[in-house]
Amino acid sequence: MFDLSKYNTFNLTVYSQCGREIKSLNDLKAPIQKPYIILGGGSDVLFTEDFEGTVLINRIQGVEISKVEGPLPALLQKIYQKEQSDHSHQSGPSLKGNTKEFNDKAFYKIRVGGGVILDELIDELIEKGIPGLENLSLIPGTVGAAPIQNIGAYGVEIGDFIESVETFDLETGAIRIFSNEECKFAYRSSVFKEDLYKSLFITHVNLVLPNEFKPRQNYAGLQSHEFKDPRALRDRVIALRNEKLPNPKYVGNAGSFFKNPYVPKQCFYDLKLQYDHVPAYEQDDGSYKLAAGWLIDKANCRGIKHGQVGTWGQQALVIVNLGKAKPHEVVAIAKYVSTEVKSKFGIDLIPEVRLYGKHGEKEWAQI
Ligand code: NAP
Repeated sequence: MFDLSKYNTFNLTVYSQCGREIKSLNDLKAPIQKPYIILGGGSDVLFTEDFEGTVLINRIQGVEISKVEGPLPALLQKIYQKEQSDHSHQSGPSLKGNTKEFNDKAFYKIRVGGGVILDELIDELIEKGIPGLENLSLIPGTVGAAPIQNIGAYGVEIGDFIESVETFDLETGAIRIFSNEECKFAYRSSVFKEDLYKSLFITHVNLVLPNEFKPRQNYAGLQSHEFKDPRALRDRVIALRNEKLPNPKYVGNAGSFFKNPYVPKQCFYDLKLQYDHVPAYEQDDGSYKLAAGWLIDKANCRGIKHGQVGTWGQQALVIVNLGKAKPHEVVAIAKYVSTEVKSKFGIDLIPEVRLYGKHGEKEWAQI
């Protein structure tokens, strides 16, 4: 039996039949006992029971940096142009830093091993004077896992900067490189979540990053600040996260447990009749993104405890292990929270964390 307790940030005591740390492409060429699942930092997973298979843990290292002379590639231009146009349509406080001209004469290409810790990468890049990822500071997990969920924070998603993703198919042994478009990045989602692609092990991620610092500070908490460099923005993001979110080093958790729901306009208007302030963000298609944490709070589920599990007092979207939690206790509180939100608002909450049972990944409805 392989002890998974140090491979899941919920810090649950669970086991798999086998476990292997993968440090290079060669390690993937040895036969692998099925079923198997792939883990990065284990920061976005919930094991609902022991797993009767092999766990492959991505530990491929390496950061190769090259500076390219030339204008910003289209991928980067797109992000900053979108920010400028969002900004020009937005009412409220003026957003700083996003009105810079695209006069970069160089950019960076970075090839990163899938097992590199994302936050360590961000720190290293900033140290070397390479900006772009600072809003993602302190998100736990590895670079290889980041594209799967298209992880995001403070208005930035990792997919914004991914030029391509290199994969090894555990079924066929084929190497396949996915372009940004082929990755089909969406809100906390990508092609790598589709069943067809679950046999793909992400070996490397290729990023493109700007040469010049263009702070992205649309989110509250960042807006009223003047950031002189990426380090200052990173420090602010870290401070904000530390104020609100439990550090998995000390309190077991997997970050946001549920995704923010997208609802029709009418649903948002109905909520506005009941509450003075409803945090909601209008989308291009007319729907609204609601804050799952706010819904959980209003359903009286913030800071609740059931046995060794609770929801975090400062951010109800995070489910925490208060000591020696058992997987079924985490499932029970998650089900309780989603049921309360459903009965109060008629809105379904869907987990952002991936759920693994005895035979592999499971859907929320199967639990
Ligand atoms: P918050 O500021 O309390 O805001 C609640 C929600 O409203 C956020 O989830 C965010 O959606 C949305 N939001 C806030 N300002 C927005 C804006 N200007 N435009 C569009 N949407 C906006 O959130 P928080 O809990 O302190 O988290 C802050 C950031 O860290 C968020 O971006 C959150 O996603 C991120 N975070 C990520 C994880 C993770 O596991 N990936 C864990 C914790 C926090 P979005 O979530 O879509 O940004």
